[in-house]
Parts: sequence; C-alpha cells; structure tokens
Amino acid sequence: NKQVILKDYVSGFPKESDMNIVDSTITLKLPQDSNELLLKNLYLSCDPYMRILMTKDTTGGLGAHTPGSPLIGYGVSKVLESGHQDYKKGDLVWGITKWEEYSLIPAAGMFKIEHTDVPLSYYTGILGMPGMTAYAGFFELGCPKKGENVFVSAASGAVGQLVGQFAKLAGCYVVGSAGTKEKVDLLKNKFGYDEAFNYKEEHDLNAALKRYFPEGIDIYFENVGSKTLDAVLLNMRVHGRIPVCGMISQYNLTQPEGVTNLAHLIYKRIHMQGFVVVDYYHLYTKFLEFVSPLIREGKVVYVEDIAEGLENGPAALIGLYNGRNVGKQVVVVAHE
Ligand code: NDP
Repeated sequence: NKQVILKDYVSGFPKESDMNIVDSTITLKLPQDSNELLLKNLYLSCDPYMRILMTKDTTGGLGAHTPGSPLIGYGVSKVLESGHQDYKKGDLVWGITKWEEYSLIPAAGMFKIEHTDVPLSYYTGILGMPGMTAYAGFFELGCPKKGENVFVSAASGAVGQLVGQFAKLAGCYVVGSAGTKEKVDLLKNKFGYDEAFNYKEEHDLNAALKRYFPEGIDIYFENVGSKTLDAVLLNMRVHGRIPVCGMISQYNLTQPEGVTNLAHLIYKRIHMQGFVVVDYYHLYTKFLEFVSPLIREGKVVYVEDIAEGLENGPAALIGLYNGRNVGKQVVVVAHE
C-alpha cells in the first residue's frame, strides 16, 4: 500500500522533502459491522488548507495531519468492501480519505456518487468540496444581486473559476486576479470574467482596483488575504459583502501579515464573514441540482490540472503555494 507520509510538522514554506513515499505491505481488513469502508483511492484533491493541518497546534479546529501517518484529504474512491449497510462493493464515493492507495475510512461523512456521466475527478472539484465552497460562499454569504460588481482573488483556481462563472450567471460584473498571464487569459477567454489582471504586475493594487471598479466593489470573494484585502477594503461600496473563504498568502508564514484598512468595514457598513464549507454540506443536493444541468449544457466549464501517480502528489500539493497549478489540482492514484 503506497502512502504519502508527513515526516514531521512543517514550519514555513512546505517542501517535497517534508513528505515521504513509502510502500507498506499491511493487509487492510474490514471488521464486520464496523461502519467502515475499505476503499481503493482513485483521485486525490490538493487543497490549500492541507498546509494548515501540517502545523503543530493548529487551533483552527480543522483537524491535523499526524507525523508518521499518511496525509488526510479529500478524494474519490471505490468501495472494495463495506461494513456499512448503505454502501456495497463497487460503489463510488467522495469525501475525506488518506493519501495512500487503499484506506479504511468511516462511512459516515462520505458522499455516494450517483452521477457518473461526468469525469469522476470532478468530485474532487466542481462537484465536490471546492464546488460547494464557491456555491455557499458566493450565494449564501455574498447574496449577489443582478448588476453588482464582484471581485475574486485566486480567480482561476479550484474555487475561484466557479465563483466567476456563478457571478456571471447571477448577472454581475466580475473581475478576477491571478498570478500569471496564462491564468489571466483563462479568466477572460474561458471562464467569462469581464476583466482580469495579474496581481504580480500591479505595483499599486489600490490603483488597479480603481481602474476596474470606478464605482466600487459590492462583493469581494476573499481567497488570498493580506495586501489584496487591504486594497479591496479601500474600494468596497457601502453595504458590500466579503465572504472570507481563504487567505492562502498567510498559510506558510510564521508571522502573519497585518491588515491596516479594517476601519473601512465601519465606514462602508461591510458584512465580512468567514466560513468553512462543511457547515453547508446540507445544501449539497440542492447544489447538484443547480450545477449538474449547467455542466451538461456547457454553461459552466471546469479546468483541472492533473498529476499522474501518488508519487507526484507532494510536488502537486506544494505547487498550490507558488501558483504552479492551473485550475483544480488533482492527483491520479488509479484509473478505476
Ligand atoms: P487554487 O486552486 O486557487 O490554488 C491556490 C492558488 O492560490 C495558486 O494557484 C495561486 O494562484 C494562489 N496563491 C498562492 N499563493 C499566493 C499568495 N501568496 N498570494 C496570492 N495568491 C496566491 O486553490 P483553491 O481554489 O482550492 O482555494 C482557494 C482559496 O479558498 C484558498 O485560500 C483556500 O484555503 C480556500 N478554501 C476555503 C474553503 C473553506 O471552507 N473556507 C474550502 C476550500 C478552499 P496565482 O497563480 O493566481 O497566485
């Protein structure tokens, strides 16, 4: 059973050498009525929060990886044996699994995959956790109205590419920022963003936002934090909303950076709210009913960045923090 093991807690920017690929010969056996599933992992999802779980004494309540054990993370898997009455051999599931070829996982918390007329890897992205994140964050917290101005950071990624498309479907004007020319082109030509810019080429983010939003921003979908948030706060409109989805620029820092313009929350009566997607999983069926027809009709598209082989998982995961991924980063462990 090949595994990706976290060697020790990580401080600072993660490195491939923080993880080991090992091959163990342990036989996984499922006890009867254990309510567990013996899974063959097919696709693993690289998600920015996985770095937070590599830190000792994570206080965020998100759980933690255990040094010496495989990484934990979202994936798509096939049931080889079931100790739970709702699942049988051959079922496909998505949910939290481990970075290894075969896993024993509690059935509770797994989602059964019913629709297989899409790439199965979509359940690590558009039809899985990142899709739900974009949906809950944008619609439930962003409360968009037709004609409003929306700004999205990390706009071409797993979550951001969907927020932009949902914003267009909601009749909004939407601008995205990303870190390369290739990503900026994707935003404009593939995901339908009205405008996009490379934040690494803007010396003055405040001026850039003023250029794209002369009348201000109604909704800022926050994925990166720090300087971007500071510049956004200066450009929000009265009664604007900021769903705080993530702050990837902070996850590798030992000393988090400060934000200086928070007083604008008061002046502009802004509603800024952090959220964690798991609190919205009760909306999953509703989300599938919303997004599945859009995928079938080609009204929403999804770009994935596929790494082949569990052994390439560590590099793929680390790539999230330097922007190597273009779209949703997936690791293929096995094709069905
Ligand atoms: P992405 O697919 O967008 O990958 C991460 C991207 O972040 C990189 O490609 C890079 O793009 C950008 N990035 C990396 N470092 C920095 C930096 N220092 N400053 C600015 N941008 C940076 O990831 P996801 O779509 O999966 O996640 C996006 C955000 O959403 C993350 O903050 C994540 O933690 C959060 N999230 C939160 C959830 C929740 O429940 N609240 C659930 C899922 C995700 P670029 O080239 O453009 O810089």
